[in-house]
Amino acid sequence: MNLFSLLDQAAARHPDRGAVFRGTEAVHSFAGLRSRALRLAAGLRAAGEPGDRIAIATENVPEYVELFFGVWAAGMAATPVNAKLHARELVQILEDSGASTVFVSPKLASGLEETLVGSPAASCRRIVIGGADYAALAAGDEWTGPIDPDPQALGWLFYTSGTTGRSKGAMLSHRNLLAMTIAHLADVETVDEECSLLHAAPMSHGSGLYMAAYVGRGARQVVPASSAFEPAEFLDLCDHHPGCGAFLAPTMVQRLRLEAERTGRRPANLRSVVYGGGPMYVEELRRSLAAFGPVFVQIYGQGEAPMTITCLRRRDHADDEAVLGSVGFARSGVEVAVVDAGGRPLPQGEVGEIVCRGDVVMAGYWNNAGATADVLRGGWLFTGDMGSFDARGYLTLRDRSKDVIISGGTNVYPREVEEVLLRHPDVAEVCVTGQPDPEWGEIVVAFIVAEAGRDTSPASLDDHCNANIARFKRPKRYLFVDGLPKNNYGKVLKRELRERLVAGA
Ligand code: AMP
Repeated sequence: MNLFSLLDQAAARHPDRGAVFRGTEAVHSFAGLRSRALRLAAGLRAAGEPGDRIAIATENVPEYVELFFGVWAAGMAATPVNAKLHARELVQILEDSGASTVFVSPKLASGLEETLVGSPAASCRRIVIGGADYAALAAGDEWTGPIDPDPQALGWLFYTSGTTGRSKGAMLSHRNLLAMTIAHLADVETVDEECSLLHAAPMSHGSGLYMAAYVGRGARQVVPASSAFEPAEFLDLCDHHPGCGAFLAPTMVQRLRLEAERTGRRPANLRSVVYGGGPMYVEELRRSLAAFGPVFVQIYGQGEAPMTITCLRRRDHADDEAVLGSVGFARSGVEVAVVDAGGRPLPQGEVGEIVCRGDVVMAGYWNNAGATADVLRGGWLFTGDMGSFDARGYLTLRDRSKDVIISGGTNVYPREVEEVLLRHPDVAEVCVTGQPDPEWGEIVVAFIVAEAGRDTSPASLDDHCNANIARFKRPKRYLFVDGLPKNNYGKVLKRELRERLVAGA
């Protein structure tokens, strides 16, 4: 099945319902969205072939929705690019994917033109979203030819966020994306035509991946008028649209919570907040639950198994500290195991690498057999994340295998130390990592961002750690910084902090 079928079915059931909104303004009904997608498909097929990669480089805009479904109807592969990337990184993705066309926002277009000079990607057709060429493409006749039903066809070339190196293109087929969509509806939330998906996080990533589930159920796509995540605007949209759900990175949840606390607002129609993509610390989760009530669901996934490895259900967000600190249990249709360095399953309670298999797992990385062979072995996806299962089947994520600190021959999991430090009232943000050390191999170092207006001391942090965790885990150094380096998805760049320490050691 081709993902376009989801729109086709929704348009048959709910032709006149609002499908796409810019802020509070209706942009397309389901019949209108279907027609726009089919016109774009015809335009794409007039100048290209099935299988072409079609890049989409824009901030969140309503056109994202018609572009995805248009590309799928054309039998081509959507290749979204995070709008916050540098123009050079965007060109690298165009070169790597061999995209035949890039749809680019007016904001990114001139930087792209300058950077394309002399690049092999200079032959890629550029269409500015909202420009004359775009209008012409969307104004032609609808595509009436066959729509490729091959579930193995490439639907989304998903460029990973690259916290551990250069971004790679995970090949996601229509089957992968459908397995993800069905698992979303089975495990995460019930969606119907009285629901709305607020695209506050980048549509090139997590938020865009949830589009199919909502379109398939006849629900609204709401793209903030700011094209970005503005907490106050988000709360306004939750008061306006029915049954609001959103995917938010943990840092966004925190910003939303701070805004709600500052203004005393509790959004009327906030139904579900799905968070993931990075660690959510228990302390923050408790505060967010107090601010918004039981609306939270956690997912753990990665581009290679999009959004779909484990899930911590809404009802698991109660008082059990171990459960709150976990990423829940295996998703519907996904097997998850924890293995040792030789790939052998480990008993419950022991920490090893997390592996998974199922229809959500990508076919491999685009044009990168070496990297594919590293992570797809014996039918399993090796995630590079470390974790352990408890007796109830809850998986607790430790850290990326490369982030584990080995001090005096003992493993220290930074996440555990971070959780403790975040409970200190003077600490706003923290990142724990290892510094090479001649005596210990590595020592534990904490980068600390203090709460505004609070003055803290290493001695106070040390006392706090000693009261909560084993002595060998407590940081030997505290470095106070104004902010932590983050990538364009808000993930802390541990590698960069580690490199600073290596350079200084
Ligand atoms: P990406 O492919 O960019 O989505 O990054 C995936 C990585 O983000 C995973 O391999 C994990 O290291 C991390 N991650 C994803 N979900 C979670 C979560 N719920 N808690 C902690 N880390 C997560």
